[in-house]
Amino acid sequence: MSSTFQQAIRRLHDAAQYLSIPQELLQQLEVPQELTSVHLRVRMDDGSIRLFPAWRCRYNDGRGPTKGGIRFHPDVSIDEVMSLAFWMTFKCAVAGLPYGGAKGGIQVDPKSLSERELERLSRSYIRAFSHVIGPDRDIPAPDVNTNAKIMAWMSDEYATLRGAACPAVITGKPVPLGGSLGRDDATGRGGFYVIEELKEQLGLPEKGARVIFQGFGNAAYACALLMHEAGYKIIGASDSKGALYDETGIDPVLLMEYKRKHGTLQGAKSSVESARSMSNAELLTQACDILVPAALENQIREDNAAQVKARVILELANGPTTAEADAILESNGIVVLPDILANAGGVTVSYFEWVQGRTGMYWTEEEVHTRLKEIMQREARLMWDRQEGKEFSTRKAIYVIALDRLSKALQAAM
Ligand code: NAD
Repeated sequence: MSSTFQQAIRRLHDAAQYLSIPQELLQQLEVPQELTSVHLRVRMDDGSIRLFPAWRCRYNDGRGPTKGGIRFHPDVSIDEVMSLAFWMTFKCAVAGLPYGGAKGGIQVDPKSLSERELERLSRSYIRAFSHVIGPDRDIPAPDVNTNAKIMAWMSDEYATLRGAACPAVITGKPVPLGGSLGRDDATGRGGFYVIEELKEQLGLPEKGARVIFQGFGNAAYACALLMHEAGYKIIGASDSKGALYDETGIDPVLLMEYKRKHGTLQGAKSSVESARSMSNAELLTQACDILVPAALENQIREDNAAQVKARVILELANGPTTAEADAILESNGIVVLPDILANAGGVTVSYFEWVQGRTGMYWTEEEVHTRLKEIMQREARLMWDRQEGKEFSTRKAIYVIALDRLSKALQAAM
């Protein structure tokens, strides 16, 4: 398999075939505009100093200041950060936000750090990248293993360095610190709005569609809750340690209670009647109406795509499906609702938070939901109309829409 970034660039070239884009413009989108690497030096609780590799990639700012989360994970790499920044560039164009794309990451297992070590690490990231980020330049947010608390430390560190409060430099902050209502569940909610908007076209039943989640963190849980309330049936969920399957339906609230208590879904059988444990790989290939990858990249690949027995894949994770797997899913008639649309709810409400931070006018939760729904529904319909009756997939359709918007912005300044 090619690198994740090479996979990402394949999508760019696939889409470019359907548009007449000057070669010199396409070249600008084949490489990141600015990539910064550092080793963070952090004092540990035992007095020792540890080094952590860390990156920030501003992929392209043709449509506005760059925007993208910061990931803490032992497998974070330059390849991953560049790929995530590339996807952010396209995602912001899909949602019609005045942003370019970026991403950051630290190679660390955050579970191995104490709370104070985690704080020192988070603050050191901002000190190292303070010249890169800024409310008009590059605006970070949470991603895997980072949360509102970490954004609060980071925002505080930036304000200390600048000697002035700057709520618009980071999104995903706690509400009392200038965060937006409705940011917490925005990614899962956005995915839910997409599914609801296209339910009929996708041939899903009005009630009782069977759903499987890979990953049960922030994005998955919010989506699972809304689906459960709307009458969908959650029949499986997994986390990094194990998976649970129950064809009679799982209550996501009970499952999350178990995860919070035990730190994992492993062994959750005891709290959810009639459920059975299985491996993560097994869960991915169980029959269902909607499979929701909501963990990490490259989970549906050439080696397992043919075994996927879903009608629809809702990509809440970034990059969960490889380009090779796309072709297999398409030939098996499985419709993919692509990441750059399906999980765009998070960055959309981050944009709302940035707007609120800059104007000092804060919105109600209902306003946030209404505006988010409007954007997700509009773009889902555009994607569907673009692919309907044509020879290309939903993925190609959404990339063509995004690339068209991006290239128009870049061309306008040429
Ligand atoms: P999170 O850290 O809250 O949750 C991640 C979940 O994935 C956890 O339950 C973890 O146990 C599980 N996981 C990790 N490795 C796994 C594996 N191999 N198999 C099964 N489960 C595994 O993170 P999140 O914020 O929910 O993000 C999940 C995905 O959604 C990521 O790809 C992220 O980039 C994407 N995303 C998140 C947001 C957001 O606002 N949170 C926005 C856009 C995209």
